[in-house]
Amino acid sequence: MPEIQRRKTVTVRIGHVRVGSDVPVIVQSMTNTDTADVQGTIQQVAALAAAGSELVRVTVNNDEAAKAVPYIVEGLAKLGIHVPIIGDFHYNGHLLLKKYPDCAKALAKYRINPGNVSIGRKNDDNFRTMIECAIENNKPVRIGVNWGSLDQALLTRLMDENSKRPDPLDARDVMMEAMCRSALDSAAAAESYGLGHDKIIISGKVSGVRDLIDVYEMLASRCDYPLHLGLTEAGMGMKGIVASTAGLSPLLLKGIGDTIRVSLTPKPGGDRTEEVLTGQQILQSLGIRSFTPQVTACPGCGRTTSTFFQELAQQIQNYLRDSMPSWRERYPGVEELKLAVMGCVVNGPGESKHANIGISLPGTFEEPKAPVYVDGRLMTTLRGDTIVQDFQKILDEYVKTRYGKGSPKEELVGVR
Ligand code: SF4
Repeated sequence: MPEIQRRKTVTVRIGHVRVGSDVPVIVQSMTNTDTADVQGTIQQVAALAAAGSELVRVTVNNDEAAKAVPYIVEGLAKLGIHVPIIGDFHYNGHLLLKKYPDCAKALAKYRINPGNVSIGRKNDDNFRTMIECAIENNKPVRIGVNWGSLDQALLTRLMDENSKRPDPLDARDVMMEAMCRSALDSAAAAESYGLGHDKIIISGKVSGVRDLIDVYEMLASRCDYPLHLGLTEAGMGMKGIVASTAGLSPLLLKGIGDTIRVSLTPKPGGDRTEEVLTGQQILQSLGIRSFTPQVTACPGCGRTTSTFFQELAQQIQNYLRDSMPSWRERYPGVEELKLAVMGCVVNGPGESKHANIGISLPGTFEEPKAPVYVDGRLMTTLRGDTIVQDFQKILDEYVKTRYGKGSPKEELVGVR
């Protein structure tokens, strides 16, 4: 697969994690616990980190949250979890960072929303105070513009200027320009106060897919700061996943985006880690980064009247998920593994040959046997009631042989 040329950026350090074009695209997430609930937040950060979130953001919205931050970071460290914690500030970040220096120290990065600090007005002391805290504590910032809280003074000024043009732009274009200007002017202001060029990440989040693509293309062409990509308020379930994928993919394929967050609304009591897995799957589906072995499964059709192959695909998926925590340690590179679980002989053998290991199950009226392909060659044909167990054994053996530390990377030889 041809490599994607990343847009060249500076590299920003967030704790031990680097973000920028010289390193792989980073997946991040955000908690939805009350940050003042130290134990609850630790638990959720731990779950997000275990799912693969490489940065986790927490809201720091009041005194209690700011007081809790150092305890959260300390509690995570006691559990051996060192994922950098980012503070999300709105309106009162300048007060909280000043009042709670331990919070300012414990956080690995500050997110500043230029739409709700005083930037754009004559007196930008609040923004300046936050930047000075970042400089004092040697922390990077994200200048995170969101169209739901866009700097209204800036937007009004641009709208006024536009109305005086002989050929005024339409309102959407002015809005896009205001998003970019808010981010870039704020970054320039931060640098003028002494913050390093390599301490700034920017984002310009909107909730419409095509708006998102346009805003980020504009930002990408006008700066070399790393970009945090994300569709804001993506929504719930399938809608959120599809919209995020549709918005992020064209940008990522053009090499735009250095860290991503998928902003899914979980179902009540739902699993927050879904947003991490979705982000990883977007990157893996695009061939940008590998996180977990991939199973190609056909959708099934009238040729497969039994649900056996769906069950097998599910069992293999579960087996991979359960095995990955230990495999990741013992078998470096196993995340590149590709499996195929196919419902019948129409596409089964062909798809199986493209995978590292593929199985083609018997369809209706086909002989009850399941050919297994390994590295493109027919290895064996499984029959009877133990197809699942036999297939798992082949999978285990393959992983051990191919990815085991120090073991020869030989192919399992096909047997006809
Ligand atoms: S591989 Fe066979 S079972 Fe699967 S969708 Fe194609 S024809 Fe149907």
